[in-house]
Amino acid sequence: MLRDLLIDKELFSTLRKGALESEEKENSLEDIELLEKAVFKRLKKKRSVKKYKKLGVSKGDLKEIIELADVLSLDAIGGPSNVEIADNHQEWCNNCGRCCRESSPLFIHRDEVNILLTFNSDLEDEIVPNILYPEHYQFKEDKPCKFHDSEAGKCRIYDSRPQVCRNYPLMLVERDGKAHNIVNLRYNCNYAVLLVLEKSMILFDEAIRKLKAQN
Ligand code: SF4
Ligand code: SF4
Repeated sequence: MLRDLLIDKELFSTLRKGALESEEKENSLEDIELLEKAVFKRLKKKRSVKKYKKLGVSKGDLKEIIELADVLSLDAIGGPSNVEIADNHQEWCNNCGRCCRESSPLFIHRDEVNILLTFNSDLEDEIVPNILYPEHYQFKEDKPCKFHDSEAGKCRIYDSRPQVCRNYPLMLVERDGKAHNIVNLRYNCNYAVLLVLEKSMILFDEAIRKLKAQN
């Protein structure tokens, strides 16, 4: 019910379908469900359903709002974009290193290949074209990333890391001929969980504002 105040049902279904298809290339649907559960646990504490019970708000509304936060960039409704939220909250990354150990493939733009090879020219035979994204390359094997220092838990080439690493947990996808920065919905990335939580809180507040205006 709350979600319907923010977005047309049909548009939501289209966005959700597109987002799940993009995510499925990276993560399983189980990952996404786990992320939504992790956000739900936190959102329940941040936004009280009880307070708005008389207006018909339920826990189901929180779940729907989270699904919307997964797929909608808030600039579409006059809010901050995914990039703005992520840039303003870099402290949400707890430096767990999972993205460097578990992400695959690591997209390397053709302009970045030579930069990476200056750190280790032996890797030349390990870098192959990415068949889905023509201007990009990837490592044949990249779990964990060859530049991840597992003992120090750090990137060995941090200042020269590829753009895809700088964007994380956002990822660039193409939809309807346009580039979009969507959230990589990984449940075990604190940055991604808190990003979706922040968006959910903004969406919840906006829906409540609209609901109150109706009553
Ligand atoms: S971006 Fe996420 S997965 Fe990567 S180090 Fe930060 S919290 Fe961990
Ligand atoms: S290049 Fe650095 S930041 Fe990027 S995945 Fe590898 S270790 Fe992580």
